[in-house]
Amino acid sequence: MNAEEEMPVTVGGRPAFPDGLPLVRPSVPDPEALAEDLRAILESRVLTNGPFVSELERRAAEYLGVRHCIAVASCTAGLMLALRAAGLAGDAVVPSFTFAATAHAAAWNGLRPVFADIDRETLTLDPDAVRSAATDRTAGVIATHTYGTPCDVEGLERVAADLGVPLIFDAAHAFGSRHGDVPVGRFGTAEVFSLSPTKVLVAMEGGIVATDDDDLAERCRIGRDYGNPGNYDFAFVGLNARMSEIHAATALRSLDSLDERVERRNVLAQQYRDALSDIPGISFPAVPEDDRSTFKDFAILVDREGFGADAASLGRALAATGIDTRRYYSPPVHRVAAYRGQGPGPDLPVTDRAAERALALPMWSEMTDDQPAAVAEAVRDVRSSVVDAAAS
Ligand SMILES: *Cc1c(COP(=O)(O)O)cnc(C)c1O
Repeated sequence: MNAEEEMPVTVGGRPAFPDGLPLVRPSVPDPEALAEDLRAILESRVLTNGPFVSELERRAAEYLGVRHCIAVASCTAGLMLALRAAGLAGDAVVPSFTFAATAHAAAWNGLRPVFADIDRETLTLDPDAVRSAATDRTAGVIATHTYGTPCDVEGLERVAADLGVPLIFDAAHAFGSRHGDVPVGRFGTAEVFSLSPTKVLVAMEGGIVATDDDDLAERCRIGRDYGNPGNYDFAFVGLNARMSEIHAATALRSLDSLDERVERRNVLAQQYRDALSDIPGISFPAVPEDDRSTFKDFAILVDREGFGADAASLGRALAATGIDTRRYYSPPVHRVAAYRGQGPGPDLPVTDRAAERALALPMWSEMTDDQPAAVAEAVRDVRSSVVDAAAS
């Protein structure tokens, strides 16, 4: 760490948000409506794997335009099941610029995560980097729609087809994202969504595996129930990864207003961009034209030379004004204790550079119109104070 990084960044005057501005406020359904569902569930005595789960699976499949949706306890469990159901053994090529669960799901299946670099514009897995990282041990590819930005799905599908291996998407952020007119959920061998509180579609906790592959879907269904095909002759080593009825009821209510929330987040993201784009040293990860992101996160990229401070310093300075931020994703997964190993590790210059610069700003669907501009003003104040400090 050099002196510049240790330099504390302070902003004079009152905190911009004395009551605090959180990174995320989960969207929740109307309590009265959910109470009705809860009453129906309790009266039926069907608490899990019942009609609400079936209805969620039907509605999600209809929304995405896929043959099968399997509701599960979490995205992590869904990824574990999808990889298990695909019967992979060997290495899985994964991004490092993602949440650790992407790699964990591979590791829990005894697959060795092999980290590959990302595209410098979109920060999603780079198909050429996958090709370079692949060996004859490569059994599958897992790619993350980072922040809700659709991956280069065609490029990744081409590489996976050339390698002859399944392509699984960690679509944790992306229920509601679209590549052109096509909903994320229809790409690769399977796509796995998260419905946990920080995501845009919320079940309290939950996940959904989406696939057009009949066999894979059936194995995921059996797998979420311990591997029990129904006759207790357990077909393979499964999990308990079921979703409960109350979680499914919550998700159904959340799905009703999903598109409104995604639209709202796109408006907020544009407001952020408009308010931040003329600040030197601030730029944004790209969302391909014609694609729609959920903006599960709104991240900026902070260039230390241009801005005068790095992303970590800016995060600390914003915290002092009450604004919550997160370094998604720093450290990148190949540098965390579980994966960093002994050696120098893989060479992932684009990932390392993104990890150094990325900072997620507050983003939730019920943010008010003045909040992105107020956050941008606080960012501008930080920049002024470091420029003034440097000049004096
Ligand atoms: C949140 C998240 C997960 C894990 O989702 P859970 O439903 O909490 O298991 C996996 N991958 C990414 C990229 C995530 O952000």
